[in-house]
Amino acid sequence: MSIASNIQQIKHNIPKEVTLVAVSKTKPNEMLLEAYQDGQRHFGENYVQELVDKQAVLPQDIYWHFIGHLQSNKVKYIAPFVYLIHSVDSFKLLVEINKQAEKLHKTIDCLLQIYIAKEETKFGFDVKECEDILQSEDFKNLKHIRVCGLMGMASNTDNVVQLTSEFNVIKQLFDELKTKKLVGEFFKYLSIGMSSDYPLAIECGSTLIRVGSHIFGQRVYNQ
Ligand SMILES: *Cc1c(COP(=O)(O)O)cnc(C)c1O
Repeated sequence: MSIASNIQQIKHNIPKEVTLVAVSKTKPNEMLLEAYQDGQRHFGENYVQELVDKQAVLPQDIYWHFIGHLQSNKVKYIAPFVYLIHSVDSFKLLVEINKQAEKLHKTIDCLLQIYIAKEETKFGFDVKECEDILQSEDFKNLKHIRVCGLMGMASNTDNVVQLTSEFNVIKQLFDELKTKKLVGEFFKYLSIGMSSDYPLAIECGSTLIRVGSHIFGQRVYNQ
C-alpha cells in the first residue's frame, strides 16, 4: 500500500467534516511530500527540532500541528509558523505561548490536553482543572491565544468499552464548556483518535484525528 492510497482509504471512511492530521514524526521529508502531492495539507509533529527542520524545507502552505509534549522554553521556535498546538498541558505553557504570540503580533490557536487515559504517563489537565483555568481571570488576560478545543489520548488498549468511556469523558467536557459559554465560537476541535482507535473516536464525536502509522507505516526509533 502506498502513502497516497492509505490516505485515500482513511478519507473515504471518515465524514468530510473531520480533519485528518497526518502524523509524520520520525518520517523523512520524502514521505511527507508524497502525502502532500496527494493533497494532504495537515501534518502533525511531536518534536520541536524535527518540526523546525521540516518546516524550513517543505512547502510553505502546510498546516503544521504540534502534538507532542511541549517545553515552555521551546515555544519560541515554533510560534512563527505553527497552525495549532494540541498539547497544552499547563497554565505556564499557555502563558508562554501567549507571550511569544504577542511578540509576533499574532494569536496562536491551542487545544487543552485532557487527561483521559488510565495510564500514569500521559500528560494533561483533568476536567476540574480545565474548567478552573477557563474561568480564571489570569486566563482571560491572555489575549494572544485562542483555545479552539480539546485534545485527548485514550489508553493504549483495544478494549472498546474502556476506550468509549474515556472518549465520552472528553466529549462531555467539550459539550459542557460550550453550553456554559466558557469558550468562544472558534471552539470547535475535539482532537481524539489515532491509527488504532479513530473510527471509534469519530463515533464519540471527534472532529480532528491524528493518524501516523496507518499512513506512513510503523515508526522505528533508533535511540
Ligand atoms: C504518535 C502520535 C499519534 C499517532 O499515532 P499512530 O498510532 O501512529 O497513529 C497521535 N497522537 C499523538 C499525540 C502522538 O504522539
